[in-house]
Amino acid sequence: MRIRKGFLIDMDGVIYRGSQLIPGADAFIKALIERDLPFLFLTNNSQRTRRDVATKLIRMGIPAEERHVFTCAMATARFLASQKPNGTAYVIGESGLSNALHTNGYSIVDNAPDYVVVGEGRTVTLEMLETAVQMIIDGAKLIATNLDPNCPTSTGTRPGCGATVAYLETATGFRALSVGKPSPVMMRMARKELGLATSETIMIGDTMETDILGGVQMGYRTVLVLSGGTKAADVDRFAYRPDMVVDSVAEFAATPRRLDELVPTMNREDDSTHDLHQWKRTPA
Ligand SMILES: [Mg+2]
Repeated sequence: MRIRKGFLIDMDGVIYRGSQLIPGADAFIKALIERDLPFLFLTNNSQRTRRDVATKLIRMGIPAEERHVFTCAMATARFLASQKPNGTAYVIGESGLSNALHTNGYSIVDNAPDYVVVGEGRTVTLEMLETAVQMIIDGAKLIATNLDPNCPTSTGTRPGCGATVAYLETATGFRALSVGKPSPVMMRMARKELGLATSETIMIGDTMETDILGGVQMGYRTVLVLSGGTKAADVDRFAYRPDMVVDSVAEFAATPRRLDELVPTMNREDDSTHDLHQWKRTPA
């Protein structure tokens, strides 16, 4: 029996840092394509649309297509569409988020929304925060695309979506629901997008609190790369650990056998696809 496996791959710190390609990342992706291994780029950045992300990757020499990209904005919009179809949202964020909401049947409004949806971006103003606070107090539900507190940039650190969300939570006393990594909502949706079982899914990322925690909680295999924000010495401080630690994904390209070491658990019991009709017929 052929072992099936596929990869969920974080981008910032794994494929690139800011606008710099991490050496060997392009060779890694090409190796996946050559071996016909399914993969999906998974990002907690809601700013860009799927197409914007694919273009950025292509310009760096990564042979990516739109179908290879899954953002927390897409996960959030799909989640809201399943919770309340054709709803309304007040958006603090940029085009990646508003686009995803529109694609999923949502209207963006500036009063009495079903949800206040928060992503990252440079457009947030005090007026927008004031408006959002009042909306939440009046009954709108607070949704976070992710809770990342900050994000490294080429010039230092910028506050992340989680910081904006914390502001709104403090002001209103209501807690947000977050959809991005490590939330199982996004982690599971991404796996389903690739058509893989839990036991066939491998998450590669540079952040313990999102990529690795998300993967561990879902029962995926996890690979921590040290090309981003985490140092080898940091790993022991966490109560969970990745299955493998590598300097960067270049290691997989240089030594393809390392890819084979990532054997899926093959334990399908936790996640086999159920035949719903059969299931209904089975006495409890
Ligand atoms: Mg990252």
